[in-house]
Amino acid sequence: MSGSIVRTGAHLIGGDWSSQAPGGIAVSGNPARPDEPVGEFPLGDASTAVEAVTAAIEAQEAWAAAGFSSRARVLEKAAVLFDERAEELALLCTLEEGKTLPESRGEAMMSAETCRYQAGLAKTSTERIFPSNNPGETIRTVRAPLGVVGMITPWNFPLMIPVWKIAPALASGNSVVWKPASNTPLSAVAIASVFTDAGLPPGVLNLVLGPGSMGGELVADDRVDGVTFTGSVSVGQGIRDVVTARNGRVQLELGGHNPCIVFGDADLDVAVAGVVNGAMGATGQKCTATRRIIAVGGVHDELVDRLAAAVTSLQVGDGQNPETAIGPLVSAGARAEVTEAVHQAQAEGAETIAVTEGTPDGPCYFAPTLLAGGADLTITREEVFGPVSTVMRVDDVDEAFTLANDTEFGLSASVYTDDPWIVNRALHELRAGLIKVNGPTTGSEIHAPFGGEKHSSGHAAREQGDTAQEFFTRTRTAYIKPGRAR
Ligand code: NDP
Repeated sequence: MSGSIVRTGAHLIGGDWSSQAPGGIAVSGNPARPDEPVGEFPLGDASTAVEAVTAAIEAQEAWAAAGFSSRARVLEKAAVLFDERAEELALLCTLEEGKTLPESRGEAMMSAETCRYQAGLAKTSTERIFPSNNPGETIRTVRAPLGVVGMITPWNFPLMIPVWKIAPALASGNSVVWKPASNTPLSAVAIASVFTDAGLPPGVLNLVLGPGSMGGELVADDRVDGVTFTGSVSVGQGIRDVVTARNGRVQLELGGHNPCIVFGDADLDVAVAGVVNGAMGATGQKCTATRRIIAVGGVHDELVDRLAAAVTSLQVGDGQNPETAIGPLVSAGARAEVTEAVHQAQAEGAETIAVTEGTPDGPCYFAPTLLAGGADLTITREEVFGPVSTVMRVDDVDEAFTLANDTEFGLSASVYTDDPWIVNRALHELRAGLIKVNGPTTGSEIHAPFGGEKHSSGHAAREQGDTAQEFFTRTRTAYIKPGRAR
């Protein structure tokens, strides 16, 4: 299984592709074309995870000892392969997840960039030197790999999120056991193939396909030194409890309920484009998606009119169609959840401002919906993972910031204004790990740290950027002085 993208899944354990299927064979579906499944994949179980952890342990020391140049070379080659296979990877991502081809191409491109960036970073020193109070002594920190890392990833960015985690983990000398989401297993196989084809030694990256319970096995295995997880709050908090109880290290990227505040001086062309992109792009299935649109004072009515026009005319359809702006939701189950949440909001008194016209029939399609309502609605407090957002009206900047922070989450926030006083307040007062000024709540660059506050993230170091390697390394502080008097 090398060189090209396949449509039959397999585990990757100790360098071998394995189709062991104690849990049976599952089908990876296409949310836009339910009668055209993408392919099949084997379901592993606890024993599959255990085998993969053993393989990772056996490979880790040699990989760490290979040195940073060798590790960087593999990542550089992986970057080249991500670029070369970008179209195939993007198509697979669209087939399994449903997002549009341009959105999927962005993921493939960012995957290449991440490998390239982390390869470069591997060549820079992470050591620090400190002065000592003892004459002749030097204090120096060194970094050692964490060891074996467990990775559990979601389906909404099937290429990019895994690579955000895999690249810095490998650069730092760790070995990995990765359990991807069951909605996007073949994208995961394609990524693992990139790394094996790039020359990664056997056992350094292991991929296990199977249900969430198999991820649970990985989490509970005390041979796994750290677990990095992106997904739902409930699963993430359960993982945190298990890993911390056995004194492992855990990194969590969970949900968001991200506010976008539009002030009276905002350029509404810019704001409307950014709000619609942030709320509805990738079918609203981003942890950073705009869930609440806070209109301050007199801007409200015109903003609502213009948002309604923009949402109504969005083009929903198959992500492979170049005309499509918004693809289907990932599954029929996701559609049922989003539909139920909108019905509940309407029953609680939310006003429906706009619904996209001409949305195709199909079990996974959902018409993007703009609501209006207050902080008492369930939908303005709980994350609904779809193209739905609620406009809320406030009178002034104080009220806007209070409402923006009135959530258990703290992932991203944006403000539309050119007022430097408001911008400065936003940077200091908004409780969010990612703050955009005159841009959507979504989107980030791979060389800058990414993560949230409150229930959106755990307490580990930020992902991406030059902070990414902190989670994957142990810091040791050395006090070094001459062994004999000179
Ligand atoms: P989950 O949190 O259930 O899934 C994320 C990953 O965790 C998947 O690989 C999943 O495997 C795995 N998993 C599930 N249960 C366990 C477990 N007990 N132990 C270890 N791993 C487990 O998210 P969903 O995909 O079900 O989506 C549900 C909601 O989560 C969404 O509606 C959204 O609100 C939120 N979400 C947030 C994301 C983010 O970027 N922060 C991304 C995706 C979802 P499997 O797929 O096999 O179940």
